[in-house]
Amino acid sequence: MAILISASFTAFLIILSIVADIITDINSRHTDNITERDYSLYDIESPSIKEMFLTKNVNSRPGIAINTVNGIVVHYTANPGTDAEANRNYFENRKDEPDTNANKVSSHYIIGLDGTIVQCIPLNEMAYASNYRNSDTISIECCHPGKKGKFTKDTYNSLVYLVAWLCVKYGLNKDAIIRHYDITGKMCPRYYVKNAQAWDKLKNDIWGYVLSHKKTDNKD
Ligand SMILES: [Zn+2]
Repeated sequence: MAILISASFTAFLIILSIVADIITDINSRHTDNITERDYSLYDIESPSIKEMFLTKNVNSRPGIAINTVNGIVVHYTANPGTDAEANRNYFENRKDEPDTNANKVSSHYIIGLDGTIVQCIPLNEMAYASNYRNSDTISIECCHPGKKGKFTKDTYNSLVYLVAWLCVKYGLNKDAIIRHYDITGKMCPRYYVKNAQAWDKLKNDIWGYVLSHKKTDNKD
């Protein structure tokens, strides 16, 4: 009897170790985060960016420094059919409005319907877009043709390039790519809150772009 129990226990231990090995293997194969020390292995060129910095003012460009960037926040303009420059000018016009919380609105970037990337605020300054995460995130507003808030192919592609570049620049993992919704529960960016699969696909497309830009060894 004692031998039987001992044999069963040994078999149990063997099975346990096999299962543990399989779990370790699955984890190592599915880890798509880059560890900090590996970021130098990735190289993404800055996308083409149109700098149209806002005038410094209390409402849309307060000039407050960002010390650490821990995330990238994706938004939608909630203003169907409008383009990047129109939304940038909306932020700019906040400078003539009273100093109230309601007027504090801006974003680092706005991506237009044709994929043009307009930058409104330097990356080392805070924008008013993402509530309590304004102080440690970069914000990106995306234009959209319809009420549902789905991005055009051109907007989508520019967003993928821009976020991938920012992730490598700041050493951020996939988990650092978030929606406004993930901060406050706001329905923003609408289409990518209503369609969780579309949001997962967007994040996967961004991360695929990062991973496909590993430097090759044969450079001179
Ligand atoms: Zn938003």
